[in-house]
Amino acid sequence: MGIVIALANQKGGVGKTTTTVNLAASLATKGKKVLIVDTDAQGNATSGSGVQKSTIEKDIYDVLVHDEPIDNVILPTSHAGMDIVPATIRLAGAELELAPAMAREMRLKNALKDIRNQYDYVLIDNPPAIGVITINSFTAADSILIPVQAEYYALEGLGQLLNTVKQVQSFYNPDLEIEGVLLTMVDGRTNLSNEVVENVREYFGNQVYKTYIPRNVRLSEAPSHGMAIIDYDPKSKGSEVYMDLAEEVLLAHGDK
Ligand code: ADP
Ligand code: MG
Repeated sequence: MGIVIALANQKGGVGKTTTTVNLAASLATKGKKVLIVDTDAQGNATSGSGVQKSTIEKDIYDVLVHDEPIDNVILPTSHAGMDIVPATIRLAGAELELAPAMAREMRLKNALKDIRNQYDYVLIDNPPAIGVITINSFTAADSILIPVQAEYYALEGLGQLLNTVKQVQSFYNPDLEIEGVLLTMVDGRTNLSNEVVENVREYFGNQVYKTYIPRNVRLSEAPSHGMAIIDYDPKSKGSEVYMDLAEEVLLAHGDK
C-alpha cells in the first residue's frame, strides 16, 4: 500500500512544489514507483515535471468535482517511475463548487483508494492556502511534510497549519502524522538564515530533517525545462540534497 504524503505550508514560495517534484524524482531514482498529485490550480508541479498543459484533457478538478476515476487522469512525467495527476487553472473554482458537495472533504481520499496500491509513494503538492483542497489532502494523507523557508517570518502561520492538522485528525483522519519539517532555501553565509534554522530546530525538535535544502540556482532553472533536478543537472548541489532527503524519507519508513 502506497504511503501518501501531503506537502503543505499555506505560505507561497517556500519550496512545496520544488520539493514535491524533486523528492518524487529522487524516490523514483531509488527504484520506487511514485505518483505526484498536483492540487494547486497554478499547476507548477505539472509543468515542472514535463507535462505540457495544452495536452491535458482531464485533471484533478474532474476527479474532485465530477467523480472522474483517477486512473483516467494519470499521466507519465519526464522522469521514469514518476507519474502525475495534473492540475490546471480549471481547479481555481473548485473550492466554491465543492461547498455544497456531499462528503466534500473525503473526495481525494476516496479517489486514491483505487490506485494507491499501484505506487510506493504518493506525494500531494498543495496550494498556498488552507481550504477545502488542503483539507482533502490532509484527509487523504498518512502524513504531512512541511517545507519551511529559512527567512525572517519562517514560523509565522505554522501555528495555524498545525491547528488545521489537529482539526483534521479529530474529524476525518485520526492517524494523520507529521512526516517531517524541511528547511529550504537556506543561505549558510548569512547570520539570519542560520538563526532561522536554529529557531525552527528549537520549535520542531527532531521532526526537522537532517538534510536541508540550500539556495541553488539550478533548482530554480529546472522547472522551466520540465525536468527534475536529477535529470536537469545530476551533479548539482540541489540534486545531491534531494537524494539525501529521499534517503531520510525511506529510512523513516524502514523502506531501504
Ligand atoms: P511553493 O510551491 O511553496 O510556492 P516553489 O517550490 O514554487 O514554492 O518555490 C518558489 C520559487 O523558489 C520557485 O521559483 C522555485 O524555483 C524557487 N526555489 C525553490 N527552492 C529553491 C532553492 N532551494 N534554491 C533556489 N530557488 C529555489
Ligand atoms: Mg507550489
